[in-house]
Amino acid sequence: MKHDNLLRPFPENSDLFLFVAAMDATVNGIVITDNRQPDNPIIYCNKAFEELTGYRHDEIIGHNCRFLQGDDRNQKQRQLIRDTIERGEHCSLEIRNYRKDGTLFWNQLVISPVKDGDGNITHFVGVQNDVTRRREAEDALKEEKELLESRVASRTKELQESEEYLGSIVETIRESLVVLDEQINVLSVNDHFCKFFKLDTKEVVGKQLYDISNRAWDIPELRAVLEDILPHSNPFEGFEVEHEFPHIGKRLLVLNARQIKLRGKFKNRVLLAMEDFTDHRQVEQRKEDFISVASHEMKTPLTTIKGHLQLLTKRAEKAGVQADLKSLAITAKSVERLDTLINDLLDVSKIQSGRMQFNFTEFDFMNVVNNSIESVRETMDTHQIVVTGAADKKVQGDFFRLEQVMINLLTNAIKYSPAAKEISVHLSVLAGFLKVAVKDTGVGIKREDHKKIFERFYRSDGVQFSFQGLGIGLYISNQIIAEHNGTLWVESEEGQGSVFNFTIPFIK
Ligand code: ADP
Repeated sequence: MKHDNLLRPFPENSDLFLFVAAMDATVNGIVITDNRQPDNPIIYCNKAFEELTGYRHDEIIGHNCRFLQGDDRNQKQRQLIRDTIERGEHCSLEIRNYRKDGTLFWNQLVISPVKDGDGNITHFVGVQNDVTRRREAEDALKEEKELLESRVASRTKELQESEEYLGSIVETIRESLVVLDEQINVLSVNDHFCKFFKLDTKEVVGKQLYDISNRAWDIPELRAVLEDILPHSNPFEGFEVEHEFPHIGKRLLVLNARQIKLRGKFKNRVLLAMEDFTDHRQVEQRKEDFISVASHEMKTPLTTIKGHLQLLTKRAEKAGVQADLKSLAITAKSVERLDTLINDLLDVSKIQSGRMQFNFTEFDFMNVVNNSIESVRETMDTHQIVVTGAADKKVQGDFFRLEQVMINLLTNAIKYSPAAKEISVHLSVLAGFLKVAVKDTGVGIKREDHKKIFERFYRSDGVQFSFQGLGIGLYISNQIIAEHNGTLWVESEEGQGSVFNFTIPFIK
């Protein structure tokens, strides 16, 4: 019979036989040790214990239970077991045990002493339960929890750091910053705002922007653009506000605003940045005034010089003094150049103040072309000017201003192509417009400068020190062409020469 070994000590019809059979049927491993014998040997184990440990019955009986601990002998639970046995007490614990094949299992162990009539401990009963799965699940859960906690901690730290980082940027910025909610209420302002407007945070936070600073911000146009930011994600830049502010007086501020792109708690916020342009504008104005005054001041003595130069030239012609005539001609050329420069500066200040005057008449455009080419040929004889195509149309315009544009483009083409012998002018008639293209094979212009060269005083890095000039000719030309409802533009590559084109409408 299968359980022969286990049941051998008990007769088949005894109660003990039934008890043992019952124990053998349980899923928990059960061992009984005999405490009266040296080293407390196992005298009984059930089938579940054999299955749990992988040892056979004959490998178990007679051994002390410690074989279950393998080499893992430093667990604190061992001491607990020893103490329990010594004191003859009951104990319950979980311990790492090892099967015969060396694999680990977590043993939930209950040890109970059995005493005789005199109170001496005769046996111990050990009930074992394999809780490895539960322990593994618990360990995995613990690990996951620790991982999660450490992630949360590091994320919190990151957030704190980025908040501090952002905070320090916001506080360092030398611009006033305001955060607004959907109703344009002020949620926060930076340090610079308070210092600049000489206001306390309490005076502004919580109020609608339009209600603060003597209602400086209550401007219909500003309301319209501010209130359009959130609904349409529509930022704005460069909105100018000039106002007499309390504590700080009249100021010119330039405003930029955009939606703060954050999810969750901080969504639907507007960041409004205010830059003080008052000083900047004043410096600009002083510069304008200087150019205007200086060019006017220079113009008067130059006119006198020109008059006297003509007088002297006439006298020298009469006297036939060739040497004097030569010197006077050179002087006249320089005076002419100075006159052009001063006139250009005067034009710049006229454009700036909107005082540039135009005298519109009707004329043949080819006359402008021919006159300007003639005048450039007289003063610059280093290059041939080759003309192709035609623009035989009448235009409505300012003859001298258009001539000024042509002369500027032609002299630039010659100036910036010192190694060339030739420049060309191509004329064409397009749908409603005349087109002029002045082409050279000179130094060319890099792409990023194609727009900037039409700004006043802008000169490309490459030409700054190698070619004379003030950087205003194209600025003036551009204004003149715009005034004629045409456009002026450049096509060029650095080192590949340039083509300056302009169009103006002709009379049909
Ligand atoms: P200026 O020639 O006195 O500097 P302009 O306003 O006429 O002033 O031209 C502005 C700038 O544009 C020049 O400084 C130069 O960098 C560039 N530029 C103009 N014309 C040419 C050209 N034909 N070739 C190369 N660069 C040019």
